[in-house]
Order: sequence, then C-alpha cells, then structure tokens
Amino acid sequence: MAPADSAEAGAPRPSHRLPRLRRGAGFIAALLCLAALLVVAAGEWAAQNERDAQWDNLRRSGEVQALALRGVATRYNYLPFTTAQHPLVRQLLHHPASQEVRDAANAYLQAVNEHAGSDMLYVMDPQGLTLASSNWDTPNSFVHQNYRNRPYFHDALGGDTGRFYGVGKTTGEPGLFVSAPVHDNGRVIGVVAVKVRMEPIANPWEQLRDPVFVTDARGIVFLGSEPSWLYRTSHPVPAADVQQLQHNEQYGTGWTPRPVPWALRQHSDQPGAELHLDGNGKRYLAFEEALPDLGWTLTVTADSRVVTVARQQAWALATLASGLLVLGALYWQLRERRLAENRQARIGLEQRVQERTHALQQAQAFRQSMEDSLLVGMRARDLEGRIVYVNAAMCDMVGYRADELIGQLPPYPYWHPDELDRHWNDSDTVLAGKASPQGRENRLRHRDGSDVYTMFYTTRLIDGHGQHIGWMSSVVNITAQKRAEEQQQQREAQLQRVQRVITVGEMASTLAHELNQPLAALVNYAAAARALAAQGKTGPLNDSLEALSAQALRAADIVGRIRRWVRQHPESREPCDLSAIVEQSLELLLRAEARRQGIAVRVEQTGAPLQVHADRVLLEQVVINLGLNALQAMQTHQPPPEGHELRLRVAADHGHALVQVLDRGPGLPPGIAERLFEPFFTTRSDGLGLGLNICRSIIESMGGQLQARNREGGGAVFEIRLPCAVAPEAATTP
Ligand code: ADP
Repeated sequence: MAPADSAEAGAPRPSHRLPRLRRGAGFIAALLCLAALLVVAAGEWAAQNERDAQWDNLRRSGEVQALALRGVATRYNYLPFTTAQHPLVRQLLHHPASQEVRDAANAYLQAVNEHAGSDMLYVMDPQGLTLASSNWDTPNSFVHQNYRNRPYFHDALGGDTGRFYGVGKTTGEPGLFVSAPVHDNGRVIGVVAVKVRMEPIANPWEQLRDPVFVTDARGIVFLGSEPSWLYRTSHPVPAADVQQLQHNEQYGTGWTPRPVPWALRQHSDQPGAELHLDGNGKRYLAFEEALPDLGWTLTVTADSRVVTVARQQAWALATLASGLLVLGALYWQLRERRLAENRQARIGLEQRVQERTHALQQAQAFRQSMEDSLLVGMRARDLEGRIVYVNAAMCDMVGYRADELIGQLPPYPYWHPDELDRHWNDSDTVLAGKASPQGRENRLRHRDGSDVYTMFYTTRLIDGHGQHIGWMSSVVNITAQKRAEEQQQQREAQLQRVQRVITVGEMASTLAHELNQPLAALVNYAAAARALAAQGKTGPLNDSLEALSAQALRAADIVGRIRRWVRQHPESREPCDLSAIVEQSLELLLRAEARRQGIAVRVEQTGAPLQVHADRVLLEQVVINLGLNALQAMQTHQPPPEGHELRLRVAADHGHALVQVLDRGPGLPPGIAERLFEPFFTTRSDGLGLGLNICRSIIESMGGQLQARNREGGGAVFEIRLPCAVAPEAATTP
C-alpha cells in the first residue's frame, strides 16, 4: 500500500506544479501591467482634471482682473474732456502769463483732482509746457514741465483723446495718462491730461501666489505682481520702436529692452500657454486676456505644480489602489489555490477515509463473522463488573440478547438461582484479580430455564494505552460434555446393575457350590440316620440328626445370606414410569439376548403411562430375570415360528400396574405354578431354582405380587402387580 500511495501522491506533482507556476507568474505579470496602466491612466486623468479646473479658474480670474483693470483704466476718461470745457482753462491758455489766472487754474485743477480721486490733473499749452497742475504746490510740481515728447500730448494736440501708460518724467512714478484737446473756435489751443496711478489694482496682485502681469502692444510688461519683470520685453522689440520708446521715455529715461526671464510656450490642445520660468524650472499655466480697446494683454498664471501634485497624488492613490488590487488578486489567487489544494486534499482524505472505512468494515465484518462463528462465548466487563461486551455465542449460551446484557452489573440474569452465593463469590474473586488461570466451572441458568454448564477463563482486559480497564472472559459451553459424563455415569450405573444381575447368577452358582456341600452332607446324614433308625441306634441317630439339622441350618444360612445380599443394597424407592423400566430392561440385556437367540421382542403399552413407587434397579432386575426365563423356555421348547416372540405388556388393573412377561414356551406343568417360587425349585439341569424366589421377594418388598400361569394358546405368563403411585386415568383389564 505504502509505495503505491507515495507514487500516487508524489509522482504527478512536478508535472502539475510547473504549468501552475508559469500560470501564476503570467497572472502576476498581467496583474502588474494592469496596475501600472491604471496608475499612469489615473495620473493622466487627475492631471487633466486638475489642468481643466486650473484653466477654468484662470479664465474666471482673468475676466475679473481684466474687468477691474479696464474699470480703473477708463474711470477718468471723462476728466480731461470735462476739464477742457472749463472757461478758466481756456482763459489760462489765452493768458498764460497772468499769475492770477494761473493761480485760479491751479486751484481749480487741484480741487477737481482731489474731488475726482485722480493722481494728477494738468493743462499744457500747444508746446507741451505745463501751465497749471493740480500738484502746483508740491516739490514735484508739473508746472513749467514740458511733456511734448509724450505720445498722449501729441494725440490730444491732434484733436484725439490720448492714452498712454508710462513712467512719469517728473515723479518717476508710473501711471496711466489720459489726455483731451482744449478747443477754441475750432482750433486746439492746449491739452488737458490726467494721470491715474494703477497701484490700487496692481498692489493686491503681489499678494497672489502666482504672477499676474499686463503687457502693452509691444509685449513689454508694464504692470504686474513681479517688480523684477517690469518694463521687460516678452517679445523682441523692433529697433525703431526702441528708439521711439527711448524718445518718449515711456518706461523712464535710460530704458533699454531686456527680455523677461521666462518664455511662453503655446499648446494647441490647451486654452492657454505654459510659462517656463528661467533658472528654477518653474512652470505656470498662463491665460492671456486681451483688452484690445486699451491695446493691453492681461496674463494671469497658475503654478502648474498643482497639476503635477494632482498627478502625483493620483499616482499615489492609484498605486495604493493597485497595490491593494494586486494584493487582493494575489490573495484571491492564493485563496483559490489553497481552496483547490484543500479540495484535492479533502478528496484525497475522503478517499483515504473511504478506504480506511472499507478496511475497517472488512475487518469489522471479519471480526463479526469470526465472533459469530466462535462457539466460545466472550464477555468483557469493566473494573466494576459492568458487562461492556458479549458475543453472539455468549448470547446463545444464556438466551439473552446483547442489549439486555450490556450495562448489567452483578447479579447477572443468567446466574443460577440455586448457586447465587457461589456466583457472588466467583465474581468477587475475579474482580479482585484472583481468577484461576485454569478456569472455573459455572452452572448457569438459560433464559428458557434449562441448565447450562460452562467453563469460565478470565484474563485482564488491557486497552490500547496498556491500561487495565476490566476483565475479558471466554466461556466454553460444557453442557454436552456434562451430559455425556452423566450418560456415562448412567451407563456405568446400568453396567453395575447388569453386573449385579450377573452377580445374582454368579452368586447363585457360588451358592450352588456352597450348598452342594451341606446338601450332600444332608443326604449322607439322612441316609445314615435312616440306617441308624433301622438299627435302633438312638445315640448315633441323634448325632446324625443333629449333624443333619446343622447342615440344614447351614444351608438356610446360605440362603439367608442371599436374601441379605439382595436387601443389603439400600432400597431407594421413587416414582418410576413402568414403561420406561420395561424399556430399560430390554435395553440392558433382553433385546440383545433375544436377538442372539433369534426371538422377536414386542412391547405393549395400553392406556396412560403408569407410575409406580419402586426401586428402579431391582424392578429392572426382576423384569430381566422373567424375560431371560421366558427366552430360555422358548429356546428349549421351539414354539411355532409365528409365536416365537417375547412379549412384554404394561397395563393398569384396578389401581394396580401390571407388567406381564409372555412367552410361547412349554408352559407350566400342572401343580408346578406355585412351586416355581419356592427356593431351589428348578426343572433345569443347570438351574438353581432361586431366581423366581428372589424376584418374588423383591416384588413383595415393594408391596406387590409376582404370579405365574399358563397362557392361552401355549406358553406361560409371569405377572408383576404393583400398586400405582398415581391413580391411572383409565383402568383396563388385561
Ligand atoms: P432355575 O431357572 O434355576 O430353574 P427359577 O426359580 O428361575 O430357577 O425357575 C424355577 C423353575 O421354574 C424352572 O426350573 C422352570 O421349571 C420353571 N420355569 C420358570 N420359568 C418358566 C417358564 N417361563 N416356562 C416354564 N417353566 C418355567
């Protein structure tokens, strides 16, 4: 079994395991690819989402900032125009030398400027010389300053509205200059300009995280949150433009074009550009909002790192999720594999269990049939004497089922009621561990009431751990042996009886010897007495007669000894079935003797079985004796073949039981019938003539009678008549 098992269990494994390993590796690789894809896709998706959100924010922010910028830039458009309409301005332009007018104009401009909230308000003559200004009384007063090189002056002098952002020539502070012409009789006689500071809008930008800036039509940054970028060019500026800018000093005196420290890269798939900062590699999403009416472009930015961060966060999350997914998948795969292995193991286990169960069943069946076939009873008891097991033979032996016996404590139901004390003793001896190894004979009582003779052999019951847990007894049924012994004893008793019958004969022949002497002496003494009497010799006659009587007494003593021998056996009278006695007599001797002589035997029983109170052995001897005489008579007589039969008849007669022995011998000569029973009456040459006498003595000792008569049709009838022990149901007359 073992090599086969190991071959089955071991051999197929390597061939199965390799594809499974390959499958497992492929599965893991596919899983990792999927996870990587998932991570990349999640990063891109998150980045795109974040970018879109940033663009949306930038667009909204750009619109709001542009609106605010335009609001500030156009807020004072009206002021130069309305100021130019004032008569005092015209008067000033007509009378520039009048100090009074100048003072009045200065006061006016100062009041209007203050009221409007603008930075500066001033009036220039057609040569660009400032005649009056709202800041006339400050150190940086515009009065007497000439701004003819400023484009807004030219625009206004040309009759248009001028707008110009630049660095103030006088103050050096940047601002938005808006100008309007002063008309008089269809002619431009001067220019009014207002300067508006843009700081109120630009200052909050500095608080923002990401740069915001405004470029002019040439791409020069002139307003923004990064001071270092101011007045730097985002595009190359043509030389003519540079000259012009230097000429009109828009961005201060000594301005030279310097490129901004970044570059804008356009992306076709995005609504804005990407701003790449020089040096630190920072990148911003840059949304440009054009303000065409002002010729400006507002650029709002957002650090593109948020997109990167969003991507990285998505990567991290996706990696985590993928990791979990991979772990989950691996766990699932592992679990599936375990389950499959468990299934395999379970199937294997079930198979093994089935095999073991089958083997156990076989062993159990084998043991069962072995137990069932055992003729020896098996009984196991625990240490307290409780029956824990009995086999079929034990159950058969005592007539109880196993379930009726198991669990029983002494006294057991099969203990013989007549021997309870002995059973208790035996049980205590066994439980005390003192059982004899030679076994113990035990008479049990079968459930049906019969006696069962057994031999009990008891040994210790040891369990699988070597522990003494009780007692195991094997029980051999020796009833048959006992019965055989009894039968043997009976046979021996019968033999003894036969021997006793024979002994009677022997005794008789011995007696014959013994009696011969006194009888011969008797005859001699009698003859001598007769002769002495004839001679008249009384003296010797008396001696002879005394000797004669002494011999007669001796003979009588011998006969008495026979009677005593017969009686010396203690008479054991008991109720006996007469037919059984007749049958027994036949079995003992008669049938064999009749067969030897070629004579048939017939037994007749009429009516109910008859019980007599008798000594069975002696009665049998009487029947045997009568039977032998009958056979003898028939042997000498040679009766006709049809009558060649010994007949034994048992019958009831008026409260008596009769046994008749009938033959077809010569019968009894007349006058003989009564003498037959006398001692020493015999017609046979070798006869002793004591048999019938003893038989009669026996029958009479039992309260019965023995008689003889001739039989009708020839032969003799010898009849034993005994009182019935139990009254027969129907008395019949033979
Ligand atoms: P024994 O057999 O020694 O003669 P018994 O007392 O048995 O002594 O018998 C006495 C005599 O009775 C016998 O000698 C025989 O003459 C006679 N007798 C006994 N039985 C029968 C019989 N069945 N038929 C005829 N005569 C018998």
